[in-house]
This record gives sequence, structure tokens and C-alpha cells, in this order.
Amino acid sequence: MRYLSTRDPRPQPETRSFEDVLLAGLAEDGGLFVPERLPVLDAEAWRTLAGRPYAEVAARILSLFAGDAFDLPELSQLTEAAYGEFRHGAVAPLVQLDERLWLLELFHGPTLAFKDLALQLLGRLFDTVLARRGEHVTIVGATSGDTGSAALAACRDRDALDIFVLYPQGRVSEVQRRQMTTVDAANAHAIAVEGTFDDCQDLVKALFADTALRRDLNLSAVNSINFARIAAQVVYYIAAGVALGAPGRPLSFCVPTGNFGNVYSAHLARALGLPIDLLAIGTNANDILARYLTSGDMSMATVIPSLSPSMDIQVSSNFERLLFELKAENGAAVAAALQSFRQTGALPADEQSWRRAREMFTGYSVDDSATLETIADIYRQTGMQIDPHSAVAVNAARRALNRDGGTGPMVALATAHPAKFPDAVEQATGVRPPLPPALADMMEQRERMTVLPNDIAAIAKFVRAHARRTRSSRPQPHRGAA
Ligand SMILES: *Cc1c(COP(=O)(O)O)cnc(C)c1O
Repeated sequence: MRYLSTRDPRPQPETRSFEDVLLAGLAEDGGLFVPERLPVLDAEAWRTLAGRPYAEVAARILSLFAGDAFDLPELSQLTEAAYGEFRHGAVAPLVQLDERLWLLELFHGPTLAFKDLALQLLGRLFDTVLARRGEHVTIVGATSGDTGSAALAACRDRDALDIFVLYPQGRVSEVQRRQMTTVDAANAHAIAVEGTFDDCQDLVKALFADTALRRDLNLSAVNSINFARIAAQVVYYIAAGVALGAPGRPLSFCVPTGNFGNVYSAHLARALGLPIDLLAIGTNANDILARYLTSGDMSMATVIPSLSPSMDIQVSSNFERLLFELKAENGAAVAAALQSFRQTGALPADEQSWRRAREMFTGYSVDDSATLETIADIYRQTGMQIDPHSAVAVNAARRALNRDGGTGPMVALATAHPAKFPDAVEQATGVRPPLPPALADMMEQRERMTVLPNDIAAIAKFVRAHARRTRSSRPQPHRGAA
């Protein structure tokens, strides 16, 4: 499969390989990579997926996207390694909540959130490609909690990678901090910055802007817009669909959404032929996407802190991939619309695109009090505790069933383990959710971190001193900052 940039203005856009897309993250023109053309799974392809283990379904689906770079046996090895350490044999198990409603549990990976499903594989894909090329990269990133821990867990102990994650000291939860600081690996570094998350992001940008450092250490990022992450996320939609009777029986999904990455993967699964009836988006009070779907207005607002912090996002970066499709794959039109969005804070009105988007998605905004009510309600009904992000999905899923009906089962995505957000869950249920046994000793383990001032010289010095390689082995391609 070949990929093109969402901002390429040429009538015959340049196409890139999966390997280029994996390593580059972002296109040179600032656009995001999307597949040039998607295959549709035929009856035979669906039969080979039925009843197969998750890792095998993953290898087969990934081979559609990455078949040029990896053969099927190689992909199988990588997916078995990536998902073999998940705490649940099914990797992404389905749990029935009531007659129509199911939960898809995506939190059985090492850091208790759905980002593990993509990042555990991404770390291995990176490492494999780099080893093949005899190259090494230094990954730097800023985190407000979740992505950093998943990235550290995914990159630890990989020969071709070093990773440095900057987080704001004293401003992440204890579980999030321990998930970063108890990673005991020579190539993985958690840096507590004496500053805010914005300071951390600025420091990472400054590291990328330091041309000598960037060249010497081959700086890279495992950012949320990397298409390999999107591809890895397609897998659980297909696996859940097959388990519930697809392609013979349609089903619906409800996805708690921030950057639009997860739900865009569902959209691709539908393009591959998964019969998705309703595709519902749940947002918290930061509801730019829900507002857009309701009214056609996509305008920026200030971020409101919520009980589901991983969705406290103003601008959903992956929406650009959908916009490319809505604008009939016209890269110049996408670039112009986004430039205007950045300048004015609002996407220029486009009635035709909006109508098409509404045929594809429905959106629901769920505020904190509705989130707590949903956690309490599910606990009363089933005895299960769900985290605030998952509760946004369940609340939106129920509203979608009531309003739009849909045919077949409705699957709400559970994107984090309740113990990752214990305060909100305890507030709603009166019971503090325990960590899974395999992680319980994290609270006693020794923490390893470096505290550094909010000062680019100090950070750059530390990264230089601790990165294991200090010479780039090939000309520096554009790799997109975090
Ligand atoms: C990142 C995250 C989300 C949002 O996913 P997007 O792909 O950004 O839409 C939802 N829930 C949890 C727990 C997350 O960590």
C-alpha cells in the first residue's frame, strides 16, 4: 500500500512507502499520511479471520497496510510479541452489559490504557526497521501523563531506540508517575521538569529546533499522528466485529474521542468492509467534534479540565484525515481550510462536507456529572467499575441507541482501566478500584527519574550525555516534532 499527504496540492500526489510513513510520522508539507487506496476484504479474507487469536488477526490486517515492508511471518512474530504480554488472553475482550450494549476492553496492556495496543506494536515496528537499516534514533516526547508511560513501556529495551519523556513535576497522578519512573531500562528516561506541561512541550520543540542535536542523535517522535498507530487500532474493530458475527451481521461502535485517532481507525475498518451501522463519538465538555456534527460549526474553545483528561483536547489532529476525504482528496483545499482554522479559530463553513460527515458519524457530549452518573449506574447494574473515559462512551452509546436505534449490537470502547483514574471511580461508586495484581507492586518499586530545571541547555545536555548513539547514520529526513 502506498500513502499520500493530506496537504499535497498536486493532481498526481507523490506516494510514499509504509516504511517511510512509519519513520517520518508527519509529511514534509505538514500534512498527515493516508492510504492511497484501501482494499475491501472479500468473503475468503473474512473466513481466515474468524475464530483466530488476536495476534493473528492483527498480523493479517497489518499486512494490508504494511505488506510492502514486512511479510506475514515477520508481522506474526511482532504481533505475538506485542500482545503476548497483555494481561488478558483475548487481548481486547468483549463484555456484555445488557441486551444490546457491549464493552470492548482495551486496557489490558502494560500501562492500562488503549494506547498500548498501538504503541506496543509501533515500538517493535520501529526497532525492526531501524535494525534492518543499521540505524538508531532518539525519541523525545512531552507528556501530561498517558502517552508518555505507554511510549516508555513500548520503547524500553529496544536496541535501535533511546527514549526521553518529559513530564511536569508534581502535575501527573501518582499512578501515571510511577508508570514512567518504574521503567527500569538503560535506554528509557523519565525526566521530571520543574514546569508545566506546556513548558515540556516547548522544551521538546526546542530540542527538535537544535539542528546539531537533531542530526547527531537522529531525533524522532512516536507522535499520535503516526499512521502505523491508526493501522494497529483498526485491528480491534475487526476482531470485535468478527466475534459478534461480522461480516454477516452489522454492529455499531461508540468511541470516546480526543484526537480523533481511535474513531478514525473505526472509520477505516468500515472502509475495509466491516458492516458498521452507527459510528458514535463521545466527547467530554471539550466537545468541538460533537458541536461540529450537530451544527457544522468547528470553532476552537479553551480547554476545560475534566474527569477524562486524555480527551481534554481543543483541536483533534487526526480530523485532518477525515477532512481530506470530505474534501474529495483535494490536498490544496485541506491545506487552505486548516490554515484558515489556525488563523481565525474556526474551520470555514462547508455544507457539503458537513452533510457527508453526518452520514458517517454521530456525536454526543457528556459532561462530568453525567460521567459520574454513568459510572455509578453501571456499578449498580453489573458490579463492574468503569473509568471516566469509558463512561463517556457508555453514556453516548445509550443515547445513540435511544435516538438512532441502529441494528445489531452496540459496542462502547473502554479505553482505560478504572484503577488508572481511581479518584473519579471512587467518587462515583464509593469503592477505590484496585490495580490489577500484576501492577500492584508498582506502588512499592523504586522510582528512577531525573529532575531538571525548565531550561533547554540543561535538558539538551542530559539527553546528549545519556543517548547511546551520537552520530546519525543517514541524512536527516523530516520527522515531525511531537
Ligand atoms: C488517548 C485517549 C483517548 C482519546 O483517543 P483519541 O484517539 O485521541 O481520540 C480516550 N481515552 C483514553 C483513556 C485515552 O488515553
